[in-house]
Amino acid sequence: MQPIISTEDLSRWYNAGKRDEVRAVDRVSLRIEKGEWAVFGGPSGSGKTTLLGLIGTLDRPTRGKVLLRGKDVTGFSDVELSRIRRTEIGIVFQDFHLLRGIAAWENVAYPLIPAGIGSKQRYARATSLMERLDLGERINHSPEQLSGGEQQRIAIARALINAPSILIADEPTSNIDASSVQALLELLQQLQREGKTILVSSHDPVFKDYGDVRFCLERGALAEVVRAQRSP
Ligand code: ADP
Ligand code: MG
Repeated sequence: MQPIISTEDLSRWYNAGKRDEVRAVDRVSLRIEKGEWAVFGGPSGSGKTTLLGLIGTLDRPTRGKVLLRGKDVTGFSDVELSRIRRTEIGIVFQDFHLLRGIAAWENVAYPLIPAGIGSKQRYARATSLMERLDLGERINHSPEQLSGGEQQRIAIARALINAPSILIADEPTSNIDASSVQALLELLQQLQREGKTILVSSHDPVFKDYGDVRFCLERGALAEVVRAQRSP
């Protein structure tokens, strides 16, 4: 079967060739099957955020390739990549990147604007997704009025609004309280059951019991790959 995501010798070197070169991601080759939940572990500075940014097409490699459904997207134009990010990949940032001063539902609906969807329909789609994520009472609040866990669910809803097949979340437990962590894990499990492919980075031991495959990074390189035994 063709993996939904694969990388070949993927590298991102900051200040490449200079004295202060940093090999943030170094020759990483991996594959993730459709519907898998992948966890990226490794200490701070090991390259997790950079790697997720490359796979999420937010950043371009110094060398190597990112393939989505077998297609090398490395040479795609910015316009093509932004279309992929809009339709195929949902990204949840560590610090959420929500727009302050506008309603939660407008944040969730924001990615529908480039598709030319009118405001009535944007509202309907955003609010129905928010009900599902237990945000039905937060529709008109602005992000700064909400807890970390709620802000994160808004960021997740925004990432899901275009029904992407891939969801990427960078350190999703780092800015939420302990009680929100359990809700997050259950939500990710639910999304996986719906067929989404999930990538999270974390050094939180809570992820030890979750996910199908664990990629451990050390100084930008893939140090270990552990696949969970699946019951037949
Ligand atoms: P992690 O998410 O695992 O903490 P990062 O991907 O953020 O790791 O960083 C990997 C390495 O790349 C670190 O050494 C970091 O200092 C370096 N790095 C990250 N972004 C930049 C940048 N824009 N310029 C130079 N070095 C960077
Ligand atoms: Mg990071």
